[in-house]
Amino acid sequence: MSETEKNVSVNAETQEEKGETVSRNFIENMIDKDLAEGVYDHVHTRFPPEPNGYLHIGHAKSIILNYGLAKKYGGKFNMRFDDTNPTKEKTEFVDAIKKDIAWLGADWEDRLFFASDYFDQMYEGAVKLIKKGKAYVSDLSAEEIREYRGTLTEPGKEDPYSKRTVEENLALFEEMKSGSVPDGAKVLRARIDMASPNMNMRDPVIYRVAHMTHHNTGDKWCIYPMYDFAHPIEDAIEGITNSICTLEFEDHRPLYDWVCIELGYKERPEQAPKQTEFAKLYLTNVVTGKRYIKKLVETGVVDGWDDPRLVSIAALRRRGFTPESIWKFVELCGVSKADSSVEYPMLEYCIREDLKLSRPRMMAALDPIKLVIDNYPEDKEEELEIPNNLENESLGVRKVPFGREVYIDRDDFMEEPPKKYFRLYPGNEVRLMSAYFVKCVSFEKDETGKVTVVHCTYDPESKGGNSPDGRKVKGTIHWVPVKHAVKATVRLYENLIDEEKGVYNEETGEMNINPNSLTVLDNCMLEPALADAKPFESFQFVRQGFFNVDYKDSKEGALVFNRIVGLKSSFVLPK
Ligand code: ATP
Ligand code: MG
Repeated sequence: MSETEKNVSVNAETQEEKGETVSRNFIENMIDKDLAEGVYDHVHTRFPPEPNGYLHIGHAKSIILNYGLAKKYGGKFNMRFDDTNPTKEKTEFVDAIKKDIAWLGADWEDRLFFASDYFDQMYEGAVKLIKKGKAYVSDLSAEEIREYRGTLTEPGKEDPYSKRTVEENLALFEEMKSGSVPDGAKVLRARIDMASPNMNMRDPVIYRVAHMTHHNTGDKWCIYPMYDFAHPIEDAIEGITNSICTLEFEDHRPLYDWVCIELGYKERPEQAPKQTEFAKLYLTNVVTGKRYIKKLVETGVVDGWDDPRLVSIAALRRRGFTPESIWKFVELCGVSKADSSVEYPMLEYCIREDLKLSRPRMMAALDPIKLVIDNYPEDKEEELEIPNNLENESLGVRKVPFGREVYIDRDDFMEEPPKKYFRLYPGNEVRLMSAYFVKCVSFEKDETGKVTVVHCTYDPESKGGNSPDGRKVKGTIHWVPVKHAVKATVRLYENLIDEEKGVYNEETGEMNINPNSLTVLDNCMLEPALADAKPFESFQFVRQGFFNVDYKDSKEGALVFNRIVGLKSSFVLPK
């Protein structure tokens, strides 16, 4: 069991032990009822991504929902690549998707499948339909099929080829398979009902000719099944009980059931495999669609599918999100039948909550200026013991060297402070965090008027950050010893989208990109303990937020940190 699973199941148990009602979503209610009525006697779910891009936060919801249900009911969870469309699929995506799902903690054990593993059975299924008189080969073009299909208010017209005999259809389907039919010249259609009010039931195309090399089956096939025909077969072969998908497939459900029933996988629609739809997860002002993420990658707006500004799972991982934070987020979102959009700050809330107590709080000057303590002996150095996290003693303490010169953040000094500015300014005394009281006595500027050095005196009696005479200071600022500082690059992020304009420009369909989504600070000074930080490791930088080590751009001696999230937010947890 992974750590994530443990946490999640422990939460559920303690909630139940405490006698609190654990609210169930509508899918769980349905499963409870089905199990009680013997519709099926176990739960088996799957996650079926198309390997045509990287997974995003929306997919995480589906993965956690499917895997979570299997866990909750002591059932199984399959991983299955829906690779029935060879044009857009790539092995790069297969590998990335597996990595993301494993990272989220969804364990498919030994059940990793590819829809293309079942091409033989799908082909046999198609032949079976032809033999039953339930499918025919049509020579109509895609355009003509669309015209014949009718509209929502008008029934469709019979396909002129629908009268072909079983023998003719078998021979023509064989021709399609053998490679002599050009792409698009013939298709296999299911014979259902051209007058059905549901357009999906008007003799849908179930097989098409496509002379393409498939990443798994190579050149074995030049006919490929359509999604609506393939998916129920995949589910049925794997013994899936609950085929959970998003709302846009609701109108496809009658076809799903039709395929299962006609091929003898079940007798009635309510039996397993059973399709159930839920609403997609949308984030306000965030690009989630794979197609759009792909565009951002291809046009170079971002530096790849895992650019930390994206919400692909790989990007969230790179940015420093944890699986736990994503589980928490999905739990807070809930599962429903109604489309809605969630605010990005809710996702930030989840990661902040996860890191707040679990990560050490370190000191970093992102825009450093030097502070010289004039009355501190030049050759003296001491080691100060600093708690790693005041709210979590179990993280222990660390030693930080302290000397005459430290870096502070430029923001923490002002020549002419406004009201209520309690940090350093000439004449004012502040606390250097866990160190000493220091009082500003003077400062230096360069020829452009920029402050370069702040001079202070310190009170040797105030070691540890408190004065024996009980005098108080209002400001506490962080610092980094100059002699031992670790120079690093820090990246700060804003929303990739211009929030005032929304994601898409209504006229052009282009995305409204925020030109300031990335700020690179390349002269940051960090306390020495951070020199050993490893890729993906995360920390709080006091007063600045949570940061992690970028695994791609960091080099030994030249670390790059990503800001995961700031410390504060206006987000309030919904009741
Ligand atoms: P996109 O629209 O982003 O390209 P997709 O639906 O085409 O995504 P698939 O690989 O076909 O991507 O999806 C795999 C599974 O993830 C499907 O069951 C799909 O319903 C689910 N899924 C996709 N997007 C979301 C989302 N935003 N919220 C919840 N589930 C989603
Ligand atoms: Mg898709």
